[in-house]
Amino acid sequence: MNLILLGGPGAGKGTQAKKLIDKYQIPQISTGDILRAAVKEGTPMGKKAKEFMDAGQLVPDEVVIGIIKDRLAQPDCKKGFILDGFPRTVPQAEALEKVVASLSSKIDHVVSIDVDEEALVTRLTGRRTCKNAACGQMFHIEYTPPKKAGVCDKCGSELYQRDDDNETTVRSRLSTYNQATKPLIDFYTGKGLVRPIKGEGGIDDIFTKICGILGQAA
Ligand code: AMP
Repeated sequence: MNLILLGGPGAGKGTQAKKLIDKYQIPQISTGDILRAAVKEGTPMGKKAKEFMDAGQLVPDEVVIGIIKDRLAQPDCKKGFILDGFPRTVPQAEALEKVVASLSSKIDHVVSIDVDEEALVTRLTGRRTCKNAACGQMFHIEYTPPKKAGVCDKCGSELYQRDDDNETTVRSRLSTYNQATKPLIDFYTGKGLVRPIKGEGGIDDIFTKICGILGQAA
């Protein structure tokens, strides 16, 4: 099963992807995570990407398309994959079509998670993420706080606030989303693939809705 999770920053794509990995045993591919790892390692790609990420803008299409081409060719994607944060522009979606066709595959579902914009600002500015990349569990200081402040419940690593989860950058990311990424809803609606869901409410309730769409009970 090849799945795209669409939705604004903070809509819950990463949170739902983590639950979907456990259930369907297919990898989550987050271009944001891959780019953050490159920034941390200080690779040439990471250095180039950092200025865009810090400004809440999109990293150029050719960079992220290259990342996806390499990643989807890995053996663990043969059984399927969950794309989280890619595609984010129509040219990226068009490139993805070519990549999956070259692997004799196709996109099966596009789940579009809709959340009110002000709710996204509150979610993102209060978000805390586990520093351990292999875990990556997310918390919210008010809504889903960790048992011990600053410590991940799941693996015990330290939590941090992402550089781009401050209000100014969040507003810029939302405006980028509205301009560049929202048109993908029409793009995939035209292909009969979009399944919209309301992304407000409990994490488990939203997961149940997604599993319903994918054709299996949560
Ligand atoms: P995310 O973790 O998905 O919120 O992504 C964090 C940042 O990484 C975004 O604000 C962009 O600067 C960059 N990024 C992630 N995925 C993409 C993409 N598909 N296209 C362009 N930039 C991206």
